[in-house]
Amino acid sequence: MKKILYTSSKAQTQELGMLIAPLFEAGSVITLDGDLGAGKTTFTQGLGKGLKIDDNINSPTFNILKCYFDGILPLYHIDAYRLEDKVNTQIGLEEVIEGDGVCVIEWSIFIKEMIFNPLMVTIERIDDTKRKITFETDNESYLNVFNKLEEIDNV
Ligand code: ADP
Ligand code: MG
Repeated sequence: MKKILYTSSKAQTQELGMLIAPLFEAGSVITLDGDLGAGKTTFTQGLGKGLKIDDNINSPTFNILKCYFDGILPLYHIDAYRLEDKVNTQIGLEEVIEGDGVCVIEWSIFIKEMIFNPLMVTIERIDDTKRKITFETDNESYLNVFNKLEEIDNV
């Protein structure tokens, strides 16, 4: 399954994450790839909103993993950017990938051997405010997410 959508503001990218968030469940894994400043963390903020998380979600780059437990499901936010050199991947990430909550992984390419059949989201910067967002997976458990994306596209 594959779906491409465009957003033209930060708020719209958050809204997109917010609208699909309720369709995820414990064990859902979403990879977020795209250049620095593409909008990966912005999209995650929307997911957090949709999961009714009140804590402020910001970039976990210096933490690798941030956990949010105040929503309807735990949200595990991984930023694998600092795992590029592979010296420190043994920090228990497998516990939260396909764990008891929703796991979102920025820069998933650096830990791809730990990730099986995720919903892949790629964000490309078209210009200052426009983003191309590609959703792709072979995993049928995300079918309802794609149905929702079709719905969003048709409004
Ligand atoms: P990343 O996590 O991919 O490095 P961030 O989400 O931290 O990126 O930053 C995205 C930046 O791009 C923010 O400063 C945001 O305001 C800006 N921006 C502009 N237009 C958009 C858009 N359509 N979607 C997402 N972010 C946007
Ligand atoms: Mg980020």
